[in-house]
Amino acid sequence: MRLDTTADLVDKIKSGEYKRFFITTHHKPDGDAMGSTLGLWHVLKNFSDQVTVVTPTDYSADLNWLPGNDHVVNFEEESNRAVALLGEADVVFCLDFNRLSRINQLGELVKNSAKPTVMIDHHLEPEEFYSYAFWTPQASSTCELIFEWSIKNFGKDVVSKDCVNCLFTGLMTDTGNFQYNNTKPHTHRVAADMMELGADHIAIHERIYDVFSPTRSRLFGYCLYQKLEIIEDCRTALIYLNKEELEEFQVVTGDTEGLVNLGLGIKGIVFSVLIIDRTERVKMSFRSKGNFAANEFAGNYFSGGGHKNAAGGQSEESLEATVEKFRSELVKYKEELQSIYK
Ligand code: 5GP
Ligand code: MN
Repeated sequence: MRLDTTADLVDKIKSGEYKRFFITTHHKPDGDAMGSTLGLWHVLKNFSDQVTVVTPTDYSADLNWLPGNDHVVNFEEESNRAVALLGEADVVFCLDFNRLSRINQLGELVKNSAKPTVMIDHHLEPEEFYSYAFWTPQASSTCELIFEWSIKNFGKDVVSKDCVNCLFTGLMTDTGNFQYNNTKPHTHRVAADMMELGADHIAIHERIYDVFSPTRSRLFGYCLYQKLEIIEDCRTALIYLNKEELEEFQVVTGDTEGLVNLGLGIKGIVFSVLIIDRTERVKMSFRSKGNFAANEFAGNYFSGGGHKNAAGGQSEESLEATVEKFRSELVKYKEELQSIYK
Protein backbone atom coordinates (compact mmCIF):
# COMPACT_ATOMS: atom_id res chain seq x y z
CA MET A 1 0.00 0.00 0.00
CA ARG A 2 1.60 3.18 -1.19
CA LEU A 3 0.44 6.52 -2.58
CA ASP A 4 2.62 9.06 -4.36
CA THR A 5 0.68 11.71 -6.23
CA THR A 6 3.14 14.54 -5.71
CA ALA A 7 4.81 14.86 -9.16
CA ASP A 8 2.87 18.03 -10.05
CA LEU A 9 3.51 19.48 -6.57
CA VAL A 10 7.26 18.90 -6.99
CA ASP A 11 7.19 20.70 -10.37
CA LYS A 12 5.36 23.65 -8.81
CA ILE A 13 7.91 23.90 -6.00
CA LYS A 14 10.84 23.69 -8.44
CA SER A 15 9.35 26.26 -10.80
CA GLY A 16 8.50 28.68 -7.98
CA GLU A 17 4.76 28.57 -8.69
CA TYR A 18 4.31 27.45 -5.06
CA LYS A 19 6.53 29.49 -2.77
CA ARG A 20 4.54 30.16 0.41
CA PHE A 21 4.45 27.02 2.48
CA PHE A 22 2.34 26.27 5.55
CA ILE A 23 3.37 23.09 7.38
CA THR A 24 1.29 21.57 10.17
CA THR A 25 1.04 18.39 12.21
CA HIS A 26 -1.17 16.72 14.79
CA HIS A 27 -2.39 17.89 18.19
CA LYS A 28 0.27 17.53 20.94
CA PRO A 29 3.06 16.78 18.45
CA ASP A 30 5.60 14.10 19.31
CA GLY A 31 9.17 13.51 18.08
CA ASP A 32 8.07 12.32 14.66
CA ALA A 33 5.60 15.18 14.23
CA MET A 34 8.11 17.91 15.15
CA GLY A 35 11.06 16.15 13.49
CA SER A 36 9.19 15.80 10.21
CA THR A 37 7.67 19.30 10.13
CA LEU A 38 10.99 20.96 10.98
CA GLY A 39 12.86 18.59 8.66
CA LEU A 40 10.57 19.65 5.80
CA TRP A 41 10.91 23.29 6.90
CA HIS A 42 14.68 23.01 6.34
CA VAL A 43 14.16 21.37 2.94
CA LEU A 44 11.68 24.00 1.71
CA LYS A 45 13.93 26.80 2.96
CA ASN A 46 16.13 25.89 -0.02
CA PHE A 47 13.33 27.18 -2.26
CA SER A 48 11.72 30.01 -0.33
CA ASP A 49 11.87 32.28 2.73
CA GLN A 50 8.15 31.96 3.29
CA VAL A 51 7.97 28.64 5.07
CA THR A 52 6.23 28.27 8.44
CA VAL A 53 5.52 25.40 10.81
CA VAL A 54 2.24 25.85 12.72
CA THR A 55 1.35 23.38 15.48
CA PRO A 56 -2.26 23.06 16.72
CA THR A 57 -1.05 22.98 20.36
CA ASP A 58 2.11 23.09 22.45
CA TYR A 59 4.50 20.15 22.70
CA SER A 60 7.16 18.76 25.01
CA ALA A 61 9.96 21.21 25.89
CA ASP A 62 12.29 18.24 25.32
CA LEU A 63 11.84 18.96 21.59
CA ASN A 64 12.77 22.65 21.82
CA TRP A 65 16.39 21.94 20.86
CA LEU A 66 15.33 20.83 17.35
CA PRO A 67 16.98 23.17 14.82
CA GLY A 68 14.36 25.65 13.58
CA ASN A 69 12.18 25.32 16.70
CA ASP A 70 12.32 29.08 17.40
CA HIS A 71 10.33 29.75 14.24
CA VAL A 72 7.40 27.45 15.11
CA VAL A 73 4.00 29.14 15.56
CA ASN A 74 1.69 27.57 18.17
CA PHE A 75 -1.92 28.05 17.01
CA GLU A 76 -3.20 28.18 20.61
CA GLU A 77 -0.88 31.08 21.43
CA GLU A 78 -0.88 32.94 18.12
CA SER A 79 -4.09 32.04 16.34
CA ASN A 80 -4.37 35.35 14.43
CA ARG A 81 -0.88 34.95 13.06
CA ALA A 82 -1.56 31.32 12.14
CA VAL A 83 -4.77 32.27 10.33
CA ALA A 84 -2.95 35.01 8.41
CA LEU A 85 -0.20 32.58 7.41
CA LEU A 86 -2.78 30.10 6.21
CA GLY A 87 -4.48 32.82 4.19
CA GLU A 88 -1.21 33.70 2.45
CA ALA A 89 -0.11 30.12 1.80
CA ASP A 90 0.05 28.55 -1.65
CA VAL A 91 -0.04 25.05 -0.23
CA VAL A 92 -0.61 23.35 3.14
CA PHE A 93 1.54 20.38 4.19
CA CYS A 94 -0.16 17.99 6.64
CA LEU A 95 2.41 15.76 8.28
CA ASP A 96 2.10 12.69 10.51
CA PHE A 97 -1.70 12.58 10.57
CA ASN A 98 -4.38 11.64 8.07
CA ARG A 99 -7.66 13.02 9.45
CA LEU A 100 -8.35 16.73 9.82
CA SER A 101 -9.94 16.13 13.24
CA ARG A 102 -6.39 15.43 14.54
CA ILE A 103 -5.50 19.15 14.23
CA ASN A 104 -8.44 20.52 16.25
CA GLN A 105 -9.87 23.88 15.04
CA LEU A 106 -7.10 24.15 12.46
CA GLY A 107 -8.81 21.28 10.63
CA GLU A 108 -11.91 23.36 9.86
CA LEU A 109 -9.76 26.35 8.89
CA VAL A 110 -7.68 24.27 6.49
CA LYS A 111 -10.84 22.72 5.01
CA ASN A 112 -12.58 26.09 4.56
CA SER A 113 -9.46 27.71 3.10
CA ALA A 114 -9.76 25.41 0.06
CA LYS A 115 -5.96 25.56 -0.31
CA PRO A 116 -4.19 22.63 -1.94
CA THR A 117 -3.14 20.19 0.80
CA VAL A 118 -0.36 17.63 0.89
CA MET A 119 -0.65 14.61 3.19
CA ILE A 120 2.68 12.98 4.08
CA ASP A 121 1.93 10.25 6.58
CA HIS A 122 2.28 6.64 7.70
CA HIS A 123 -0.98 6.00 9.58
CA LEU A 124 -3.60 3.53 8.39
CA GLU A 125 -6.83 4.46 6.60
CA PRO A 126 -6.40 8.07 5.50
CA GLU A 127 -9.40 10.31 5.07
CA GLU A 128 -9.51 11.73 1.53
CA PHE A 129 -9.01 15.38 2.44
CA TYR A 130 -5.79 15.87 0.48
CA SER A 131 -4.88 17.20 -2.98
CA TYR A 132 -1.49 15.45 -3.01
CA ALA A 133 -0.34 12.42 -1.04
CA PHE A 134 2.90 10.71 -0.17
CA TRP A 135 1.72 7.93 2.10
CA THR A 136 2.45 4.40 3.16
CA PRO A 137 1.74 2.62 6.45
CA GLN A 138 4.87 0.58 5.75
CA ALA A 139 7.12 3.52 6.66
CA SER A 140 8.49 3.58 10.20
CA SER A 141 7.80 7.28 10.58
CA THR A 142 6.85 10.44 8.76
CA CYS A 143 10.49 11.50 9.11
CA GLU A 144 11.50 8.50 6.98
CA LEU A 145 8.99 9.62 4.33
CA ILE A 146 10.19 13.24 4.34
CA PHE A 147 13.78 12.03 3.93
CA GLU A 148 12.91 9.79 0.98
CA TRP A 149 10.62 12.30 -0.68
CA SER A 150 13.13 15.14 -0.39
CA ILE A 151 16.11 13.20 -1.71
CA LYS A 152 14.14 11.53 -4.49
CA ASN A 153 12.74 14.82 -5.77
CA PHE A 154 15.37 17.42 -4.90
CA GLY A 155 18.63 15.50 -4.30
CA LYS A 156 20.88 15.15 -1.25
CA ASP A 157 21.97 18.79 -1.26
CA VAL A 158 18.65 19.97 0.18
CA VAL A 159 19.17 17.83 3.29
CA SER A 160 21.45 19.78 5.64
CA LYS A 161 22.91 18.57 8.91
CA ASP A 162 20.22 20.50 10.83
CA CYS A 163 17.56 18.92 8.65
CA VAL A 164 18.84 15.41 9.14
CA ASN A 165 19.09 15.92 12.92
CA CYS A 166 15.35 16.72 12.91
CA LEU A 167 14.56 13.71 10.73
CA PHE A 168 16.66 11.21 12.69
CA THR A 169 14.75 12.26 15.82
CA GLY A 170 11.41 11.02 14.48
CA LEU A 171 12.93 7.85 13.04
CA MET A 172 14.32 7.08 16.50
CA THR A 173 11.27 8.02 18.58
CA ASP A 174 8.57 6.43 16.38
CA THR A 175 10.45 3.11 16.34
CA GLY A 176 11.08 3.24 20.10
CA ASN A 177 14.80 3.30 19.44
CA PHE A 178 14.60 0.84 16.54
CA GLN A 179 12.75 -1.64 18.72
CA TYR A 180 9.08 -1.76 17.57
CA ASN A 181 7.82 -3.91 14.73
CA ASN A 182 7.79 -0.92 12.35
CA THR A 183 11.60 -1.24 12.36
CA LYS A 184 12.58 -2.89 9.07
CA PRO A 185 15.98 -3.50 7.44
CA HIS A 186 15.11 -0.44 5.36
CA THR A 187 14.71 1.67 8.54
CA HIS A 188 18.31 0.90 9.49
CA ARG A 189 19.46 1.75 5.96
CA VAL A 190 17.68 5.10 6.23
CA ALA A 191 19.28 5.66 9.66
CA ALA A 192 22.69 4.89 8.14
CA ASP A 193 22.06 7.33 5.26
CA MET A 194 21.04 10.00 7.78
CA MET A 195 24.20 9.40 9.82
CA GLU A 196 26.30 9.75 6.68
CA LEU A 197 24.66 13.11 6.10
CA GLY A 198 25.61 14.21 9.62
CA ALA A 199 22.88 13.04 12.02
CA ASP A 200 24.43 13.11 15.49
CA HIS A 201 22.70 10.04 16.92
CA ILE A 202 24.37 10.20 20.33
CA ALA A 203 23.44 13.83 20.98
CA ILE A 204 19.88 13.22 19.73
CA HIS A 205 19.48 10.19 21.98
CA GLU A 206 20.68 12.14 25.02
CA ARG A 207 18.45 15.13 24.27
CA ILE A 208 15.38 12.93 23.95
CA TYR A 209 15.86 10.26 26.59
CA ASP A 210 18.24 11.62 29.23
CA VAL A 211 16.25 14.70 30.13
CA PHE A 212 13.90 13.61 32.91
CA SER A 213 13.16 16.28 35.51
CA PRO A 214 13.30 15.00 39.11
CA THR A 215 9.49 15.23 39.36
CA ARG A 216 9.04 13.24 36.15
CA SER A 217 11.38 10.52 37.46
CA ARG A 218 9.37 10.40 40.68
CA LEU A 219 6.11 10.21 38.71
CA PHE A 220 7.43 7.13 36.88
CA GLY A 221 8.51 5.59 40.20
CA TYR A 222 5.14 6.37 41.77
CA CYS A 223 3.29 4.79 38.85
CA LEU A 224 5.35 1.60 39.04
CA TYR A 225 5.15 1.34 42.82
CA GLN A 226 1.64 2.54 43.61
CA LYS A 227 -0.43 2.68 40.45
CA LEU A 228 0.45 -0.21 38.18
CA GLU A 229 -2.29 -2.78 38.10
CA ILE A 230 -1.84 -6.17 36.49
CA ILE A 231 -5.04 -7.71 35.14
CA GLU A 232 -3.58 -11.18 35.00
CA ASP A 233 -6.25 -13.14 33.14
CA CYS A 234 -6.14 -10.54 30.33
CA ARG A 235 -2.32 -10.19 30.41
CA THR A 236 -2.89 -6.46 30.69
CA ALA A 237 -1.16 -3.67 32.61
CA LEU A 238 -3.20 -0.61 33.58
CA ILE A 239 -2.15 2.75 35.00
CA TYR A 240 -4.51 5.66 35.50
CA LEU A 241 -3.86 9.10 36.91
CA ASN A 242 -6.26 11.69 38.27
CA LYS A 243 -5.89 15.49 38.26
CA GLU A 244 -4.53 15.64 41.83
CA GLU A 245 -1.75 13.24 40.94
CA LEU A 246 -0.84 15.25 37.84
CA GLU A 247 -0.62 18.33 40.04
CA GLU A 248 1.37 16.60 42.78
CA PHE A 249 4.07 15.63 40.27
CA GLN A 250 3.84 18.96 38.41
CA VAL A 251 3.19 17.13 35.16
CA VAL A 252 3.83 19.22 32.05
CA THR A 253 3.33 18.35 28.37
CA GLY A 254 5.56 15.40 27.47
CA ASP A 255 6.08 14.13 31.02
CA THR A 256 3.83 11.10 30.59
CA GLU A 257 5.47 10.10 27.28
CA GLY A 258 6.87 6.58 27.65
CA LEU A 259 4.86 5.76 30.77
CA VAL A 260 2.58 3.33 28.94
CA ASN A 261 5.60 1.33 27.75
CA LEU A 262 6.54 0.38 31.32
CA GLY A 263 3.67 -2.10 31.48
CA LEU A 264 4.83 -3.91 28.36
CA GLY A 265 8.23 -4.53 29.96
CA ILE A 266 6.64 -7.00 32.38
CA LYS A 267 6.97 -10.67 31.45
CA GLY A 268 3.75 -12.07 30.00
CA ILE A 269 2.03 -8.70 29.54
CA VAL A 270 0.78 -8.13 25.97
CA PHE A 271 -1.48 -5.08 26.41
CA SER A 272 -0.69 -1.92 28.33
CA VAL A 273 -2.98 1.02 28.93
CA LEU A 274 -2.48 4.47 30.39
CA ILE A 275 -5.51 6.61 31.23
CA ILE A 276 -5.02 10.25 32.18
CA ASP A 277 -7.54 12.82 33.34
CA ARG A 278 -6.36 15.75 31.25
CA THR A 279 -7.99 19.17 31.58
CA GLU A 280 -9.92 18.93 28.31
CA ARG A 281 -10.79 15.23 28.34
CA VAL A 282 -9.73 11.81 29.49
CA LYS A 283 -6.86 10.69 27.23
CA MET A 284 -5.86 7.08 26.71
CA SER A 285 -2.72 5.43 25.35
CA PHE A 286 -2.63 1.80 24.28
CA ARG A 287 0.37 -0.42 23.51
CA SER A 288 0.21 -4.06 22.54
CA LYS A 289 2.38 -6.97 21.46
CA GLY A 290 2.00 -9.44 18.61
CA ASN A 291 -1.32 -9.58 16.81
CA PHE A 292 -3.45 -7.78 19.33
CA ALA A 293 -4.76 -4.71 17.48
CA ALA A 294 -4.60 -1.81 19.93
CA ASN A 295 -5.90 0.57 17.24
CA GLU A 296 -9.06 -1.49 16.76
CA PHE A 297 -9.67 -1.60 20.50
CA ALA A 298 -9.17 2.17 20.70
CA GLY A 299 -11.43 2.73 17.69
CA ASN A 300 -14.20 0.40 18.92
CA TYR A 301 -14.63 1.93 22.37
CA PHE A 302 -12.69 5.16 22.76
CA SER A 303 -13.01 7.21 19.52
CA GLY A 304 -9.38 6.56 18.74
CA GLY A 305 -6.99 4.78 16.43
CA GLY A 306 -3.34 4.72 15.45
CA HIS A 307 -1.11 1.77 14.69
CA LYS A 308 -1.67 -1.90 15.48
CA ASN A 309 0.68 -1.91 18.47
CA ALA A 310 0.52 1.77 19.46
CA ALA A 311 -2.74 3.65 19.56
CA GLY A 312 -4.60 6.36 21.41
CA GLY A 313 -8.12 7.38 22.23
CA GLN A 314 -10.26 9.53 24.48
CA SER A 315 -13.40 9.61 26.53
CA GLU A 316 -15.90 12.32 27.42
CA GLU A 317 -16.83 10.48 30.61
CA SER A 318 -15.18 10.84 34.04
CA LEU A 319 -11.89 9.11 34.78
CA GLU A 320 -13.61 6.54 37.00
CA ALA A 321 -16.32 5.77 34.42
CA THR A 322 -13.66 5.48 31.70
CA VAL A 323 -11.61 3.02 33.75
CA GLU A 324 -14.72 0.96 34.44
CA LYS A 325 -15.70 0.99 30.78
CA PHE A 326 -12.17 -0.11 29.88
CA ARG A 327 -12.32 -3.01 32.33
CA SER A 328 -15.66 -4.25 31.05
CA GLU A 329 -14.67 -4.04 27.36
CA LEU A 330 -11.31 -5.66 28.08
CA VAL A 331 -12.77 -8.94 29.39
CA LYS A 332 -14.33 -9.54 25.97
CA TYR A 333 -10.78 -9.99 24.66
CA LYS A 334 -9.62 -12.39 27.38
CA GLU A 335 -9.25 -15.40 25.06
CA GLU A 336 -7.60 -13.37 22.33
CA LEU A 337 -5.14 -11.83 24.78
CA GLN A 338 -4.40 -15.26 26.27
CA SER A 339 -3.51 -16.59 22.82
CA ILE A 340 -0.91 -13.93 21.89
CA TYR A 341 2.51 -15.56 21.34
CA LYS A 342 1.16 -18.93 22.44
P1 5GP B 1 0.13 8.15 22.07
O1 5GP B 1 -0.32 7.04 22.95
O2 5GP B 1 1.62 8.25 22.03
O3 5GP B 1 -0.58 9.42 22.32
O4 5GP B 1 -0.30 7.74 20.57
C1 5GP B 1 0.10 6.53 20.00
C2 5GP B 1 -0.33 6.47 18.56
O5 5GP B 1 -1.73 6.49 18.47
C3 5GP B 1 0.17 7.63 17.73
O6 5GP B 1 0.83 7.10 16.61
C4 5GP B 1 -1.03 8.41 17.30
O7 5GP B 1 -0.97 8.64 15.94
C5 5GP B 1 -2.21 7.52 17.62
N1 5GP B 1 -3.25 8.26 18.35
C6 5GP B 1 -3.15 8.81 19.58
N2 5GP B 1 -4.31 9.38 19.96
C7 5GP B 1 -5.18 9.19 18.93
C8 5GP B 1 -6.55 9.54 18.72
O8 5GP B 1 -7.21 10.14 19.55
N3 5GP B 1 -7.08 9.17 17.51
C9 5GP B 1 -6.37 8.48 16.57
N4 5GP B 1 -6.96 8.15 15.41
N5 5GP B 1 -5.10 8.13 16.76
C10 5GP B 1 -4.50 8.47 17.91
MN1 MN C 1 4.59 9.21 13.31
